[in-house]
Formats: sequence, structure tokens, C-alpha cells
Amino acid sequence: MYDEALRADLRATLAEIEEAGLYKRERELSSAQAAHITTGQTEALNFCANNYLGLADHPDVKAAAAAALDEWGFGMASVRFICGTQELHTRLERAIADFVGTDDSILYGSCFDANGGVFEVLLDERDAVVSDELNHASLIDGIRLCKARRFRYRNADMSDLRAQLESARDGGARRVMIVTDGVFSMDGHLAPLAEICDLSEEFGALVLVDDSHAVGFVGPGGGGTPEHFGVQDRVDLLTGTLGKALGGASGGYVAGRQEMVDLLRQRSRPYLFSNAVAPTVAGGSLKALEIAVGSTQAREQLRTNTTLFRELMAEAGFEVLPGEHPITAVMFPGPDGARRAAEVADAMLREGVYVIAFSYPVVPHGRARIRVQLSAAHSEADVRACADAFVAARALSIEGVR
Ligand SMILES: *Cc1c(COP(=O)(O)O)cnc(C)c1O
Repeated sequence: MYDEALRADLRATLAEIEEAGLYKRERELSSAQAAHITTGQTEALNFCANNYLGLADHPDVKAAAAAALDEWGFGMASVRFICGTQELHTRLERAIADFVGTDDSILYGSCFDANGGVFEVLLDERDAVVSDELNHASLIDGIRLCKARRFRYRNADMSDLRAQLESARDGGARRVMIVTDGVFSMDGHLAPLAEICDLSEEFGALVLVDDSHAVGFVGPGGGGTPEHFGVQDRVDLLTGTLGKALGGASGGYVAGRQEMVDLLRQRSRPYLFSNAVAPTVAGGSLKALEIAVGSTQAREQLRTNTTLFRELMAEAGFEVLPGEHPITAVMFPGPDGARRAAEVADAMLREGVYVIAFSYPVVPHGRARIRVQLSAAHSEADVRACADAFVAARALSIEGVR
């Protein structure tokens, strides 16, 4: 029964969130997801989507999704193992595995589900997980759902990884699995996969990489961070999403060694007990993947845009975290950084550029930032307009202080 006491409790929690300045309000788009969007009556350049290859409203992807709707229907109304597997699903799993260079892959409703379902099947109380402290929330939750002992290493810190692997080994673990994001989404930094694979081999550990912010555009063929570092054969498991570069609809996967994927199909709970991916999403994603395979030019455009933006921002005197990833963190350090970042982001929307400011607890205290995400769908003029908007907004926010 929903009584007054509970209502008051929940309202108090909501008020705390509001007072801490952490209340998230959703801005409605009145257009499709694209480089150019409208929100309300405002037209804006969008620099905060994960639409790295610009496939979210690609005409061929939309056409493939529409064709799948006609041919294969709207819904599956079944989990995969009962009557929810169409040829589309099998083809998509094959295409993902070929793209990222693994034996096989298995589809989930989301990468959140993939990460929720992978650990429990492969690890139990005899085993250990050694995971990066900045890993995505879904990896953290998935690891919690298995009974393995947990060790955490400092972000991308290889001497700490070694120390944690020693602890896991000394604890007598049967299987040890190193778990890392391929790209850390708040910084745009890549995990040092070559060194991680070296350590995994020295300690006889498995490696799992969540490549959600890389699959489709990192690496010469878009195969992700293992391809970028030349370690595709040394990474045992990849998880990833169809909800970012690969069309951006929804769906996730685990890709890896044949026996691992086979066992996941038998035992993984979010796979066994949740509906099959909808035919429109499977058909559209297949097309997105097909485009991504041949998208050398789009990846080149994305790199060019990223380099140009990073250069323009450095010239204008902004502090930008170093790197090559299209996630570009523009830093607003110090005690009033959170307020300044939020002000600049607001002023930029008035200039017609949509970006989002992040502050504590999403990033550490004193490390507030605006996270800019470049896309192959941005033109050079769009990229220059974004940098110009930063300069204009900074001037306004400094005036505001005086
Ligand atoms: C976005 C993201 C996810 C979640 O993917 P969904 O398919 O949207 O559930 C998981 N892991 C990482 C690293 C991500 O960036």
C-alpha cells in the first residue's frame, strides 16, 4: 500500500537530488537523431550523440528496417530458444562475429543485458574477476551477479593490474578474468590492450573487453580496440552495443570463443528469459553493420573531424584531454568548474550547439567537463561552428561572472 510515509520519503529523496543539482531533465528532440536536430523550436548542431558514423537516420538503414518490418513482422513474442529465432538473428550474429573477428556471437536486448548475463555463466566462487575501476555500470552489475572474488585496479594502471592479478592467483582462483572497457566514456581514453594481454598471458587469465564506444569506428576496419592494438586473437570475449555507432537502435552482444558463446546460449539468463531482438532492429542493424564494413571513408571523416576539433580547441586555449577518440573532454577544472561547465553548455545551446556538461558524481570532484562527441555526419563547417560556440560561450560566461 502506497501510504503517506512512503510518499514523503520518496519526495524527500527527489528533493535531495534537486538540491544537490543532480536532477536530470530530459530535453525532447522534435526531429530524428542526426548531426542537425531540432529541440522545441531551436535548431541545433548535435555534439552529444553516440552516432559516430551517422547511421542513426541513414536512408539505407531505415529502408532495411522498413523492409524487415514488411517481411518479418513487428515482434517475435518469444525468447530465442522457443520460437524467437529468425534467419535475420542468425545472420546478424554471424555478421557481428565476422566484423569483430571472433568465432561467434550471441545477441541480447542490450549491451547492459549482455554484461549482466556473461559473468555468471563462466565464473563461480572458485574464480576471480580483476576489473578496471572506471568500467561501465553494466559491467559492475554483471560482475556482482556472479560469485567470483572481485579485485579492482586503478584506471589503466598496469602495475596495479599486476598486483591485483598476484592477489587473485595467491587466493587460489581457478579462472581469472580481466575486465575492461575498450574506451573510457568520460575521458575518451583507450584501455592499453597490448599490455593487458601481456599480463593476461603471464598470469593465465582471460580478457573481456566491452567495446561499446569503439565497435564500428576504432581500428582501421572498425573492428574496435582489439583491432586498433592488433590483439584480436588475444582477447577472449568482447561485449558491445548496437545502440551507438552501429545504427544506434538497440541490442547488444557477446562475441568470443565458440564454446563460451555456446554455453551462454544454454545458460545466460538475460538471453534465456528475455524477448528476442525485434525484426526491424535486427534488419536495420544488419544493414548498419554492412555499411560499417565498407565505411573506410566515414571513419576517415570521423578522424579528420576529431583532429580538427581538438586542434581548434587547443588553439583557442581550452584544456582538452589528450587522445584520438571522437569523445573529446573539454575540461573545466577547479571548485567552480561544475557551474562554469553548465553555464557554457547552456550558452552554447543558445548559439545553436547542443553539448552536455558532466560533473560530480559522474566524474571526480574538481574534474567537471563538457563531453563533445564528433560524428562522421558533421561537416567541417559544423566542427568549426562547435569550436566557435565554445569561444563565444566562454566569453559570455566570463562576463556573467563580472
Ligand atoms: C553504452 C554502453 C553500454 C550499454 O549499452 P546498451 O546497449 O545501451 O545497453 C554498456 N557498456 C558500455 C561501455 C557502454 O558505453
